[in-house]
Amino acid sequence: MKVGVLALQGDVPEQRRGFERLLGADSVLSVRRPDDLESVHALGMPGGESTAISQLLDDAGMREPLERRIREGLPVLATCAGLILLSRRLERVPGLREPRPMELLDVTVRRNDYGRQRESFEAPVHVEGLVGGPFPGVFIRAPRILATGPEAHILARRGDEVVGVSAGRVWGLTFHPELSDDTRVHARFLSESLGWRL
Ligand code: GLN
Repeated sequence: MKVGVLALQGDVPEQRRGFERLLGADSVLSVRRPDDLESVHALGMPGGESTAISQLLDDAGMREPLERRIREGLPVLATCAGLILLSRRLERVPGLREPRPMELLDVTVRRNDYGRQRESFEAPVHVEGLVGGPFPGVFIRAPRILATGPEAHILARRGDEVVGVSAGRVWGLTFHPELSDDTRVHARFLSESLGWRL
């Protein structure tokens, strides 16, 4: 089994490590070109700058093949900028250049919505199906999920707020599970999407 990490911009090494700590380095592939997509059974879409990643997807000729693979059933674990790129609706933020989202997750998202002084924080998150209590959610200039539509399944909450959704095997989280020591989110994603067992 091979898991790819979209390696155009952002926290690619951290995303790789997120999967490597469960699967080993040989099972994780950096995805930079359309061909790379053919050999992976699941994909991580990292945090970073969604506008930059969006542009690089176009430059690399990756947008259309990536969208097609996801629509055909490729499981995706998208965090932060990754979630922004999969969202159906983005609320415009004055002064920010807009990425072009793929509209695969039925959510409305506003970027950088937790304010400057709280650009980064950690908070307990309740993730569906995880045993062993709340997950330590690391939020870095995180987007906020303002609304979810009927096609979005709610996967994670921080208090009353939705911080993670899924649509089939596509997961989008506003926090970064690859930046905490806790491997439960990755383990659950791999077991739900690929039947992987530790
Ligand atoms: N603020 C970034 C954006 O809007 C996302 C931040 C992140 O991925 N950690 O694209």
